[in-house]
Amino acid sequence: MSKQCLLALAYPELETLITGMGSPRFVAKQVWEWIYSKHVVDFDAMHTLKKGTREQLKATCCVLPSDVVERHAAGDKTAIKYVLKLQDGQLIEMVVLFEKTHTTLCISSQSGCPVDCKFCLTGVVGFKRQLTAHEITGQLLTAFAEGHPIQNVVFMGMGEPLMNYDNVFAAIDQINSPEYFGIGKRHVTVSTSGYIVGIKRLIADKRFINLAFSVGHANPEKRAKIMPIETRNPIFEVSRLLHQYLKMHNRKLTLEYTLLENTNEDSQAIAELIPLAKYLEAKINVINLNPHSKIPFSPVSEGVIKRIRAQIKDADVPVTIRFRRGQDIAAACGQLGESHLEKP
Ligand code: SAH
Ligand code: SF4
Repeated sequence: MSKQCLLALAYPELETLITGMGSPRFVAKQVWEWIYSKHVVDFDAMHTLKKGTREQLKATCCVLPSDVVERHAAGDKTAIKYVLKLQDGQLIEMVVLFEKTHTTLCISSQSGCPVDCKFCLTGVVGFKRQLTAHEITGQLLTAFAEGHPIQNVVFMGMGEPLMNYDNVFAAIDQINSPEYFGIGKRHVTVSTSGYIVGIKRLIADKRFINLAFSVGHANPEKRAKIMPIETRNPIFEVSRLLHQYLKMHNRKLTLEYTLLENTNEDSQAIAELIPLAKYLEAKINVINLNPHSKIPFSPVSEGVIKRIRAQIKDADVPVTIRFRRGQDIAAACGQLGESHLEKP
């Protein structure tokens, strides 16, 4: 029988478990603090608990729903990729990104991804299953327990977060809550490939979050060739809904644009992207492709990136260039999934 994962329990449930073991109620508070304030995941290190209680907990419970099975630090020290094994053996990946002023955690919302974008390694891996809310927050607790002072969380790892809406937002509620992880709302970003059902739910639920939309190509026909999600989730409808959503609150949208050589980097393609950004009052984050032997595209040259930046700037649209981090460890966004591929 698998052990009870404490991260899956709400406070009253933890209390029931602890008192059921014959310990007083306040022990639940102590355990909660060890986990959510001190980020300790090893019962042996919870030294305010009696030895007997620790042994009982060790025998029947675990804190995290996953174990770290691999750690890969990038040669340039900008990132560490972790491969985590869930209780059923599924593998997921998360990346800690060290930025100048803060540390960001890029987490997965699904094991694999059903969306099948042609430039994304997670798409190549295919869909395995949804992650539960505590498998999502477990990634954050793991990062803390590994000693990283995470300030920002981005849902840009494996999976399409809006296709796992209930679990993703249950996890975000805990990430934001001072009772749990206490990371402010403005420090959490969800990235979507444009899933209409999910965006409609955000609107209906009045769930206001930092959102990023992965464009791929602003031209519908060309987009459909690299992002099959376009067929049922046309970019025109996605944009109309995003516009409606953005009018409801004051958060900014980011358009993510992954550059693919001879596919979406020509000035005509950028000319089609600019009106979309203006309509949505969004900034454009340009990402050069992280190449991989399983992905049938190449990145563009530095010169092309400069030309694109100038074209966007000239149109008075804010633009940032995301530098590739941790490329040597397949740790950058869109490269997660390596651990699922057969080793040669
Ligand atoms: N499924 C969500 C979030 C995860 S992907 C989404 O698609 O938005 C996170 C980002 O990585 C997306 O903007 C995606 O377009 C980008 N991406 C995917 N594959 C990539 C690759 N090989 N190189 C660079 N960026 C990539
Ligand atoms: Fe899924 Fe995002 Fe990758 Fe597309 S880019 S396959 S939506 S993870």
